[in-house]
Amino acid sequence: MIKVQNLSKIYGDHIAVDDISFEVKEGHIYGFLGPNGAGKSTTMNIITGYLAPTSGTVEVNGYVMGKDTLKAKKSIGYLPEIPPLYVDMNVKEYLTFVAKIKGVPKNEREAEIEKVMSATDITDMSKRLIKHLSKGYKQRVGIAQAILGDPEIVILDEPTVGLDPEQIIEIRTLIKSLKGDHTVILSSHILSEISATCDEVLVIANGRMVACDTTENLLKNGKSVKTLNLNIKGEKDKIEKVLSNIEELDEVEFVEDKGESCLFKVSCDPSKDVREVISFALSDARLLILEMSEETSSLEDIYLTLVKEADEQYEAEMQAIRDGVDLDEVFDEDKTDEESEDGTDEKSDDDASSDTEEEGSENDSKEDEK
Ligand code: ADP
Ligand code: MG
Repeated sequence: MIKVQNLSKIYGDHIAVDDISFEVKEGHIYGFLGPNGAGKSTTMNIITGYLAPTSGTVEVNGYVMGKDTLKAKKSIGYLPEIPPLYVDMNVKEYLTFVAKIKGVPKNEREAEIEKVMSATDITDMSKRLIKHLSKGYKQRVGIAQAILGDPEIVILDEPTVGLDPEQIIEIRTLIKSLKGDHTVILSSHILSEISATCDEVLVIANGRMVACDTTENLLKNGKSVKTLNLNIKGEKDKIEKVLSNIEELDEVEFVEDKGESCLFKVSCDPSKDVREVISFALSDARLLILEMSEETSSLEDIYLTLVKEADEQYEAEMQAIRDGVDLDEVFDEDKTDEESEDGTDEKSDDDASSDTEEEGSENDSKEDEK
């Protein structure tokens, strides 16, 4: 249905999307999960044909974006991060305008508009100016324009951001109701948002895809860590010194100074039982454990670990570059043989021109729609 291969987007010397590949199959709800700036919107803008990639391909039902762009776009309904609403129109006028753009035949328009207004529960608002709607209703209108024309694939960029809890639940229900008839891809930087609605999760960090699986499999296969919460009587520095010297611990994190005691969080391999070694080390230093509790990994922990590992790897690579590894060599690894033969100067020219091209293609796609 959607096949994304080795997608990259480079802005100047910043890699916003770094060699992402995945496939989307019919009827599921997919979630792009990743911190702000991870590259979710950029990836969605490329998949929907609103932005040209630096390299890589997107195929939608066999049509290649960039070649058969209009045909590829026809199967996609898109709600961008900022909904493309004309706020001085009323809801029905706006949806009629969208129906015209999408090429819905005149005799089907009325029924199609009624259908999407009913699906997004905005029928009562049809005469209301969009600028007078609440954020939740504006978002519904945004979703209505995305599903208008019955596209097979619906892509929603952060559809619940900025909504209140009640509106979030309503929008989640609406998204779930699209499942089956539509394949849905939505993005969020909040794990609970994704786990509540999606069958498959694609975790993106620093432009790279670090996991792609069902939530159950992520939990099952995720690198779990054992965490111990410790409340220890004594001074922070002294406790920290003792804990840091325990070889079995992967991480020692100071949480809070409670006056008489300090809270620490330590983590280790789940196969190890470190309670004894911690107790002995602390008692040798005449430090008393007041509380010790164990935590197992949740989906949240697994997600955070994935993002943290991706950050560490990214930082290490950046450090290697700062330490004098040739920047071009690092970028060349991602390029084709032909491109990597290019000289340094030419490459920076390429970057500049690719940015201009991209602006051009954005305009083109806008033109297409008119
Ligand atoms: P997300 O949607 O996951 O928050 P984005 O895709 O918006 O992330 O952005 C990914 C990265 O690309 C960010 O570091 C962002 O600053 C950068 N970026 C996005 N758009 C542009 C642009 N037009 N020019 C330069 N950098 C950009
Ligand atoms: Mg975004």
